[in-house]
Amino acid sequence: MKLANLLKGIRLPRPPAASPPVDLAAPERVYLPLRQHRGAVAEAKVEPGEQVALGQVVGASEEFESATVQATVSGVVEAMVDTVDPAGQKVPSVVIKNDGADTWADEPAQDGALTEPAGVQGTRPSRLLRRLRDAGLVRAQVEGRPLHVDLSPPMAPQSYLYMTGIPVVRPVDTLIVSAVDPDPPVCPNQSCLGQSTEELAVGIAALARISGAKRVILALPSGVETAAIKTMAGQFEWETASVSQTSYPFATDNLLVNALTGREVPTPYGEPKDVGVVLQPLISAMDVGRVLTSARPVIDRVFSVAGEVKNPQTFRVRLGTPISEVIAAAGGGPSRPGKIVVGGPMMGLAIFDPEAPVTRATEGVFVQSAGNVVSYADHPCIHCGRCVAACPVNLIPSELGKLCEFRMYEEAAEMDLMNCIECGCCAYVCPAKRPMVHFLRHGKTEVLAGRME
Ligand code: SF4
Ligand code: SF4
Repeated sequence: MKLANLLKGIRLPRPPAASPPVDLAAPERVYLPLRQHRGAVAEAKVEPGEQVALGQVVGASEEFESATVQATVSGVVEAMVDTVDPAGQKVPSVVIKNDGADTWADEPAQDGALTEPAGVQGTRPSRLLRRLRDAGLVRAQVEGRPLHVDLSPPMAPQSYLYMTGIPVVRPVDTLIVSAVDPDPPVCPNQSCLGQSTEELAVGIAALARISGAKRVILALPSGVETAAIKTMAGQFEWETASVSQTSYPFATDNLLVNALTGREVPTPYGEPKDVGVVLQPLISAMDVGRVLTSARPVIDRVFSVAGEVKNPQTFRVRLGTPISEVIAAAGGGPSRPGKIVVGGPMMGLAIFDPEAPVTRATEGVFVQSAGNVVSYADHPCIHCGRCVAACPVNLIPSELGKLCEFRMYEEAAEMDLMNCIECGCCAYVCPAKRPMVHFLRHGKTEVLAGRME
């Protein structure tokens, strides 16, 4: 399946070809936040001074929207400290000093290993979902949700579709696994193409089984012609779609669902499940496959370091490794550091502490030198209309920006502010260098908080 380019949005330079992830040695210490996703903080299950083994549970919660946290090195719990997540919030974290032995907590239960897609087909979806929950998997995305929440059938759709006044509830029939990175050049998904295809097959089969999807689409980046991809695509009976990498933000969830299935996700609060689609990145499918084939939790994350570093590279790093150590492994950042953006240059969040750890929700960082950081200005809008031409969801960013700037949140909400997907296209094209995304994010927060007067 070939897709047309996005009509609006912006054109980005083609990202460099991604190479397979390089294994990074486990660090001396790991910092494991007890919340690595959107949702509840887990309760610590260990005390300072306690010896822990690889895979041992160090944090867990009974809340549905929470994920279990496991030790990613063996060693001694050194302390409980606060780390700062990409959203700038302090999260209690377990610090483990690595003893270098990598001793697992226990032998994997062999009867629990599902090494073939056929084994997955014979397992109840609720049992598969329980195993993903126990493994603490999280969708790799800034503020991603625990995977078992993402995959659970909704009690009620987030947003109903209406047909002649009657609400329509659509069962999931399509699974999209996307190897197209939404915010290049941070490219963990592309980097994993052609890797561990057996695990990937099990992971995709499990995602299809849990969601109930009968149709599976593998979205592949266009122009990435490697033998591995051809082999992989040929191994599966599922459909493949070639997606442009230069047409931004084509690979964000709702736009990709629309391009691949023709279904429109209801905005602003709907999600692909509401139109019968589950969409997961390739690295999530691989995590699922690893958990099921090994009967052990996943202790590492595929993590890209892009931008102004000596050797941009994707690594496989232990969860809890300080981001500064991964940047150092990529040859180090610029002499005059500017920004470290977690997630990607367009939609990521800048962090102020390079010692923040790699978590299950992080996919990579984009590093900028001080000279290349765009300084936003306090200039008024000059009504050039470029942002309107660029907005992929057909908003009028110039007007929304002004309304949010002057705290007219109710008026902004009436002009569909909440439909903004925070893609950053308007800020990218604005010649007046107005901080458009900041205005819009702030306005959305105020609307959600009900502060519209
Ligand atoms: S208004 Fe929102 S969706 Fe439109 S270009 Fe700006 S950030 Fe993207
Ligand atoms: S691109 Fe900037 S200056 Fe031009 S209309 Fe939009 S906000 Fe105004």
